[in-house]
Amino acid sequence: MPSFRPPEVRELISKRRIDERVAELAAQITREYDGRTLVLLCVLKGSFVFAADLARAIALPVRMEFLGVRSYGADTKSSGVVQITQDLTRPVEGDDILLVEDIVDTGLTLSYLREQLRSRNPASIKVAALLHKPARVEREVEIDYLGFTIDDVFVVGYGLDFAERYRNLAFLGVLDAPSAAALPTA
Ligand code: 5GP
Repeated sequence: MPSFRPPEVRELISKRRIDERVAELAAQITREYDGRTLVLLCVLKGSFVFAADLARAIALPVRMEFLGVRSYGADTKSSGVVQITQDLTRPVEGDDILLVEDIVDTGLTLSYLREQLRSRNPASIKVAALLHKPARVEREVEIDYLGFTIDDVFVVGYGLDFAERYRNLAFLGVLDAPSAAALPTA
């Protein structure tokens, strides 16, 4: 069945390519965490689809945690101010955390979250990011498991939104004519 695609969205990465890449990352994670229980920390809202697919492809005991974060003001550019809108429900002290991010753009959100989590004394923190836009990096951050590197374009779909729309697209796409007056994203 062909997936839903609004006419203003151009496909950038197909569902098939995403599925293949997620399977590869999950196989690598399964190998590298062999024998351990992993805490997948899904950064809401944009990572919910990636985290769900990744979790089901990892062949290890997995615990899910969710962290609500708002990193943008009234713009499509990161303000550098990261607000935690929903905190973890359980302590992560002594846990192996895999932080699951949708996209690393400037890197400000990820570096802030790493600092925050470190203060909660987990055994380890690694990062899985679906997308990375190296052109816009302001803060160098280590990504241990990366899906795709992309150019400096605004992407939607597969969990990512524009003004809370398009999260349910099965593929990753680019908006043909994004409005300049962007609303806050998650
Ligand atoms: P950073 O702090 O790295 O600049 O921003 C990371 C967050 O900004 C991501 O988790 C995501 O929510 C949002 N973001 C960055 N680039 C894009 C993009 O191209 N599309 C969408 N929908 N969100 C983005």
